[in-house]
Amino acid sequence: MAKEIDQKIKGKIESSERILIASHVRPDADAAGSLLGLGLGFIDAGKKVQMVLKDGVGKFRYLPKSDLITPLPKGPVDMVIVVDCSDPNRVGDILDGYDKPDLVVDHHKTNLEFGTFNVVEPEQVATAAILFDHMPSWGLSFTPEIATCLLSGIVGDTIGFRTSNVKSDVMRKAAALMDLGADLGNIYREELILKSFKEVHYWGCGLVRVERADGLVWTSLTLADREKVGYAGNDDADLVNVLSSVKEAEIALIFIEQPQNEVKVSWRARPGLDVSGIAFEFGGGGHAAAAGADISGNLEDVKQRVIIETKKLLEQQNQ
Ligand code: 5GP
Ligand code: MN
Repeated sequence: MAKEIDQKIKGKIESSERILIASHVRPDADAAGSLLGLGLGFIDAGKKVQMVLKDGVGKFRYLPKSDLITPLPKGPVDMVIVVDCSDPNRVGDILDGYDKPDLVVDHHKTNLEFGTFNVVEPEQVATAAILFDHMPSWGLSFTPEIATCLLSGIVGDTIGFRTSNVKSDVMRKAAALMDLGADLGNIYREELILKSFKEVHYWGCGLVRVERADGLVWTSLTLADREKVGYAGNDDADLVNVLSSVKEAEIALIFIEQPQNEVKVSWRARPGLDVSGIAFEFGGGGHAAAAGADISGNLEDVKQRVIIETKKLLEQQNQ
């Protein structure tokens, strides 16, 4: 029998005709895949669905029906859902004017439980994996398209099953999603392998100024870099994954300059370390092994402050 919370969520879904789903700014595969996987489930169940990402669909155009994702919600709805997002601010301002979310589905340990119902399972590798477990008890079924969206979320957040939280149950879920029609090879290629020339050029800008000291490796990407190579995103194009492969470092960081005197910081840590707390202290959040924050200040100042604090953290955690 489904848990009591699942029954209550199912009841809310049944009584809702118009459903709005949102996720975070600078969406990753888990944000886009969870949003779309759940949204397509609702559409199949006869609901009117809005799927909203403030920064748009970005590189996740390869997901089925991704053209249904919009940057702004419109009109009244009966149910608001936020997926893969630990903090309401990270949705952006798109939910201003709507009531508190009815449902939050997330796997970040820093989640603020800001919904009426909160399905927050930090032990799960991806929000998409939580949805795989719960959607049937909410009266929703899987199609090959939904399976593709959910498997993309899992592949994205585990960097292709490489993170240390991947246990055999994750592989079983992935296998079940493949049986439901998801094409793992294609997802892997689209999500993790293929890069545009501009992205590779942009990586080059960051790689030429990579630095290392005291167990950390870091670099930065500037607004000028993006202009120079014509990269339209406001993220690191996953360069942090390259930095986190540096053998000598225990923590990798990347500083991405943003307009209006802001810097986006990403941390990646070796298994056994936890960078979620430091990200949370800087106003962000995330997981033990991967966390981020948007910090006010100019690039050099933010870099200096964050590196000093991260070195301290590494010393403490290595004691
Ligand atoms: P990334 O560094 O790739 O942006 O994110 C790493 C992890 O930290 C992801 O799970 C992401 O959702 C979370 N994260 C990144 N930036 C922020 C932020 O500004 N606030 C919060 N709450 N979480 C963040
Ligand atoms: Mn996620």
